[in-house]
Amino acid sequence: MEQLWSPWRSQYLQRGAEAHEACFLCTAASAQEPSIDMLVVARFASTMVVMNRYPYNAGHLLVAPVDHLGDLALLDRSIANELMETTQTALRVVHRVLSPHGCNVGINLGVDAGAGVPDHLHVHIVPRWRGDTNFMPVLADVRMVGTRLEELWHSYVEAFRLVAEQS
Ligand SMILES: [Zn+2]
Repeated sequence: MEQLWSPWRSQYLQRGAEAHEACFLCTAASAQEPSIDMLVVARFASTMVVMNRYPYNAGHLLVAPVDHLGDLALLDRSIANELMETTQTALRVVHRVLSPHGCNVGINLGVDAGAGVPDHLHVHIVPRWRGDTNFMPVLADVRMVGTRLEELWHSYVEAFRLVAEQS
């Protein structure tokens, strides 16, 4: 775990204050439907799924409440339930699109726990492939921008539609 989490932690530190200026999740929430500009791949009643623009690994997703809520312990029960349901759906989508060998699913609460946006709760879903730890720092530098990110956005949006139809 330490090896996995180190690259993105340093990434957040490098990004510095600019990451905290505006809440990108609230900006994403302003999109009522999938948006390639804001990397929103799915939108539900109280939650949404957004691609991480600075992925720790290929296909990294964030599942978050639509509202600017940071306290998991005090999160409204119905939103908490939807957050978990959406996380489950997102995992099915990740497996359909990328077929990873595993996934890290986790929430960082507070800056000292590694949260880049501590006031807007979000669940990280990081797809993992056998032996990927060694090249993750390289991926973090490349930051999977441009075409690949757009391609993946389209695949994710389509997969969310298909998975939603099945459930
Ligand atoms: Zn927010």
